Amino acid sequence: MVAGESGLGKSTLVNSLFLTDLYKDRKLLNAEERISQTVEIVKHTVDIEEKGVKLKLTIVDTPGFGDAVNNTEWLRPVDVEFMKALHEKVNIVPLIAKADCLIPSEIRKLKERIREEIDKFGIKVYQFPECDSDEDEEFKQQDRELKESAPFAVIGSNTVVEAKGQRVRGRLYPWGIVEVENQAHCDFVKLRNMLIRTHMHDLKDVTCDVHYENYRAQCIQQMTSKLTQDNRIESPIPILPLPTPDTETEKLIKMKDEELRRMQEMLQKMQQQMQDQ
Ligand code: GDP
Repeated sequence: MVAGESGLGKSTLVNSLFLTDLYKDRKLLNAEERISQTVEIVKHTVDIEEKGVKLKLTIVDTPGFGDAVNNTEWLRPVDVEFMKALHEKVNIVPLIAKADCLIPSEIRKLKERIREEIDKFGIKVYQFPECDSDEDEEFKQQDRELKESAPFAVIGSNTVVEAKGQRVRGRLYPWGIVEVENQAHCDFVKLRNMLIRTHMHDLKDVTCDVHYENYRAQCIQQMTSKLTQDNRIESPIPILPLPTPDTETEKLIKMKDEELRRMQEMLQKMQQQMQDQ
């Protein structure tokens, strides 16, 4: 999920990451139209395949969020609230968009400030795992650089331009070319490598083992507290037969069934314990 206010550069960044044109026909709203919008969440979903890896990507426009307010301070309360609403549910990878609008010293200061504020407001962003001590020196150096670069400052572009005889994704200005994939210009390559190569498995593992498990524990807790109140189970959770679903849905249903079965067992054990007491 890519979230942020409209006009921030989300779709351009996703186009640059996955070399797709997500919404060619989208009409960009002007400032007045954006201000007149309420805080409405607009969602677009796209299926992407990157080197055999299938991804379902959701881009969330949060129009109204910050569109009509002064954006000079970072982090704004809306950013803090938005991240806090998400940080127990997903891996947050904060980004600085349109990094070509800032000079290197400004980017350094902004990164420092964002890190400090993330700390100050207790926002839990995605933590890069510790590098194995038996990795080679080059890998360790890359890992250090990756961690030091966060939050990544990125640039997106929908156009390919010619720079030093090569065709590159970039932004053409009267004074020169900003290259999206040039590591001296921005952290785009670091972000892409991290998302779809080096850390994809860890991101999935954390989602599954931390975020989903926490959510499941919360559900069980809610159910058990209800059980304690009622002191009995009205009826076991029914597992309904479903019409022939596709493979993906089938897998999901199996997972959910398994989960429900585990919950049922747990609840029955608890009920038994209560009766014994
Ligand atoms: P979204 O509403 O967040 O999806 O924003 P868009 O991707 O549609 O971009 C809004 C405008 O910002 C467009 O005019 C883009 O060309 C421009 N833009 C996108 N990325 C960058 C960037 O990295 N640098 C600069 N300077 N402009 C950008």
